[in-house]
Amino acid sequence: MDNANISNKLKSIARRNTRSTIVAYAIPTCAYSAFAVALDLTSTSYYYFLAIYAFTVMFIYACDFYIRNVDNFTYEHGPKILIIQTLYFAAIFPVWLLLLEEGRAGGLLFSLTFLVYTFAYGSLKTAIALNTFVSFGYMFCCYVAIYELGQTGNFFNEVLLMTAYLPVSVIIGKVGSELATKKHSVKNLLIQQKETHAQLEETLKKLELAASTDELTGLLNRRELNNRMTYELNKAQRKHTKMTLLILDLDHFKQINDTYGHHCGDLVLKHVADSLMHHFRNTDSIARWGGEEFLVLMPETELKESEQVCARALASLSQEEFYYNTHPIKITASAGLCEMEHSTDPELAIHLADERLYQAKAQGRDRIVSS
Ligand code: GH3
Ligand code: MG
Ligand code: MG
Repeated sequence: MDNANISNKLKSIARRNTRSTIVAYAIPTCAYSAFAVALDLTSTSYYYFLAIYAFTVMFIYACDFYIRNVDNFTYEHGPKILIIQTLYFAAIFPVWLLLLEEGRAGGLLFSLTFLVYTFAYGSLKTAIALNTFVSFGYMFCCYVAIYELGQTGNFFNEVLLMTAYLPVSVIIGKVGSELATKKHSVKNLLIQQKETHAQLEETLKKLELAASTDELTGLLNRRELNNRMTYELNKAQRKHTKMTLLILDLDHFKQINDTYGHHCGDLVLKHVADSLMHHFRNTDSIARWGGEEFLVLMPETELKESEQVCARALASLSQEEFYYNTHPIKITASAGLCEMEHSTDPELAIHLADERLYQAKAQGRDRIVSS
């Protein structure tokens, strides 16, 4: 199922639950109010209860209207709606307490708690059945407390009533919410939607990474280095700084391939990439420019400074011991350096560095030429 479909399905469930809540709320609360008035548990007129009910209807229709107008309904809306609902019921509860001055309002509190459950996941039938059952259970307990156990206002009786009522109602609420959840598979939809989101994000990240990096070494690829070059040149213009470009080519790399095989060559390339990453700064851009050719862009670095860093990098390459299946392999590289300003043409700079690299090769390899 695609995202738009899941969104519509979620929206329709949320709206259906909203409407169900009105009905599910109406039946037990009307019955409870009538009961409270008829048994003289309160001196409040029945019309007050109806007024509260009417207010609730209006509120829930406002919720329904809101859900209908959300463009892309996602799992993130669920908790928000639930919080609004819970806050509403939390606000309306003190009003009930005031109206039911004899204090038998606990039943309503629990009914309302279940409404929150059923609002989240419930179906119409489940919600009505649950809340009616819970309210009638409470009424029955009230009846026993008043007519079998004694006074209405007796604290002990209240506690007894709650003790009998509480565990039963909690179990019913839990079971009801489980059943309703299964029926509508809302949870599955939410999980599915989350997974789709996560998969999309992951694919996007992978694509971005693949588009900008070299698969073998994990260094930047040619395209990304060109982007960075443009970016760094703009920065150099703003900051009035210079930067340096390095082209590095492994010496006699073909021999390594020919002697130990392509796999060994690949491992050498990875080793060189790691070594370069170790020697240059985080702010430098290191790319695999071609087969065994690397390019490093060093922003805010003048030629003198970079000569030292590059010399260290080359020296460590030739000194680090690299073994392929116990065969020691000598790795050296030659490099060309060139200083750039914001006005330097990148292609020209690369060409210049390349020429210097060939001079380094001609002069006997394993060295840097920078002028
Ligand atoms: P020089 O010192 O003059 O640079 O000699 P060289 O042998 O390093 O240069 P040459 O251009 O003759 O050979 C480069 C070799 O690099 C040839 C090619 O097969 C190999 N190569 C290019 N890309 C890869 C790769 O991804 N993996 C492996 N293993 N070898 C590669
Ligand atoms: Mg080479
Ligand atoms: Mg080469």
